[in-house]
Amino acid sequence: MSYTCPSCKSDNIQKATMTHVSGISKTKGIGIGVGMSGGPLGGLGGGIGVGKATNQTMLSQMTTPPKISSPFFRAFIIWFLILFVGFIFIGLVIDLILKTGDTIAAILIGLLFVIVIFLSFGGAYKAYRKQDLKNKETMTAYSEQYICLRCGNVFRITQP
Ligand SMILES: [Zn+2]
Repeated sequence: MSYTCPSCKSDNIQKATMTHVSGISKTKGIGIGVGMSGGPLGGLGGGIGVGKATNQTMLSQMTTPPKISSPFFRAFIIWFLILFVGFIFIGLVIDLILKTGDTIAAILIGLLFVIVIFLSFGGAYKAYRKQDLKNKETMTAYSEQYICLRCGNVFRITQP
């Protein structure tokens, strides 16, 4: 089965993932320089420089993979934020709780900590799942992306 560009109907199309990788080439260059200077003492200087450059074609740049953020990082941020806000909340109500008496206060404070920790892990798990799903969708969309080598149109072919 062959696909064609929806814009110009050309079949000269390429997968974005292939276009991107094939358009990157690494070049290495060595340069040697010698310099002389006049002056009363005179001088001779030499230098060697090694340079590395990455060349990327326009087509390759047009088909750069999407940036995705780490689900672990997202989860950590959410976990930290809930703990932070939770502990501030406990700090605010702790005076009120302490007025209720020793045993009840201890139970209430313990309960609050358990709730905050539970919420933080629950939130982190949700954030992880959400980001992970988003990443998968983004990568699927990218893997279905094609570029027309005739008119440069970038489009998506959804495989069944
Ligand atoms: Zn085209």
